[in-house]
Amino acid sequence: MQQRIWLSLAHMGGKEQAFIQEAFDTNWVVPLGPNVDGFEADLEKYLQTKPKTIAALSAGTAAIHLGLLLAGVEKGDEVICQSFTFSASCNPIVYLGATPVFVDSEKESWNMDPALLREAIEDRIKKTGKRPKAIVPVHLYGMPAKMDEIMAIANQYEIPVVEDAAEGLGSTYKGKPCGTWGRFGVLSFNGNKMITTSGGGALICPDQETCQKAIFYATQARDPYPYYHHTHIGYNYRLSNICAGIGRGQMLVLDEHIARRRQIQKIYQKAIDPIPGCHIMDNPSTDSNSNFWLSCIVIDKEQSGFSAEDLRLFLDSRNIESRRLWYPMHRQPVFAQAPAYLNGISDACFEAGLCLPSGSSLTDEEIENVISCIQHIASRK
Ligand SMILES: *Cc1c(COP(=O)(O)O)cnc(C)c1O
Repeated sequence: MQQRIWLSLAHMGGKEQAFIQEAFDTNWVVPLGPNVDGFEADLEKYLQTKPKTIAALSAGTAAIHLGLLLAGVEKGDEVICQSFTFSASCNPIVYLGATPVFVDSEKESWNMDPALLREAIEDRIKKTGKRPKAIVPVHLYGMPAKMDEIMAIANQYEIPVVEDAAEGLGSTYKGKPCGTWGRFGVLSFNGNKMITTSGGGALICPDQETCQKAIFYATQARDPYPYYHHTHIGYNYRLSNICAGIGRGQMLVLDEHIARRRQIQKIYQKAIDPIPGCHIMDNPSTDSNSNFWLSCIVIDKEQSGFSAEDLRLFLDSRNIESRRLWYPMHRQPVFAQAPAYLNGISDACFEAGLCLPSGSSLTDEEIENVISCIQHIASRK
């Protein structure tokens, strides 16, 4: 049988080991150093943010945690989060002793529905007498959320936005990079994301002072004393200088990798959209420029004769990995008690959608293989 085709693999550019070697040669084998500084500077340049406003951290989840903390989220608060996402978007809300309030998606981008966001804010104020403390929209699979509308609502109610761009590095909305719209932006460099540091993340901050605060919390909240003195509870969330070396190497190939993922989405679209009942998720308008971290197929079972789960099982039998879309947070047993404002969109997407192999290291032959499997299952029914 052919080698397994994976959903999204780490894809090294070739220069990563040189940065790691340099770290070893200079004995910077610690969670700070030239690679951490260099990686942050690379990200700031890429995202066109001011210098010293991005803090490299051990994970995207850590970045969400610190973003919420710096946004002032405390025990007993409510935080609005997109329901259609990975659990890492909302777990940190609970770390802080706050309650997630889930908001469903609009159907163009599958991200937070601005109309429902407004409704949720109004209703929470009515029910609790308090405004939610933060809003967490997500750019799912790299597709930009309607950030202009979300920011207008957030600004009207003066609620800070922690923008989860863990999947959205390189995507833009109305020309502005995802991750730079909210008061805080979150990136992830986990193994299967746009670029990897083997594991890591970053918090994009509004200014240098806030970024310093993020780094303070990420390095055990040590006060500037000659001995270990603490006025705050800290975390061990800084990125290692070794991992940051991988990140610096990855930044050299980021644009290439984004171009390849976009190309893969186009190849799928051209071959699959003509199949009855099948559709490849695309930018809803020229305002959105997705990085197409993952290409998603949407299947109308009535028309196609097979479901997303049928296709997943069939691809798996052909040694191809695919993945169901995120199971919405309002459906998760662990969040059963959380308030939710729903319109049925994320439930429908979950039922009909499947993520196809999309990694930038996939060959044209592998993509053709995936496509012919889909054509095969479609012709069988
Ligand atoms: C991957 C991911 C995260 C978490 O990032 P880690 O680096 O894995 O901690 C958060 N939100 C979304 C939407 C993600 O896909």
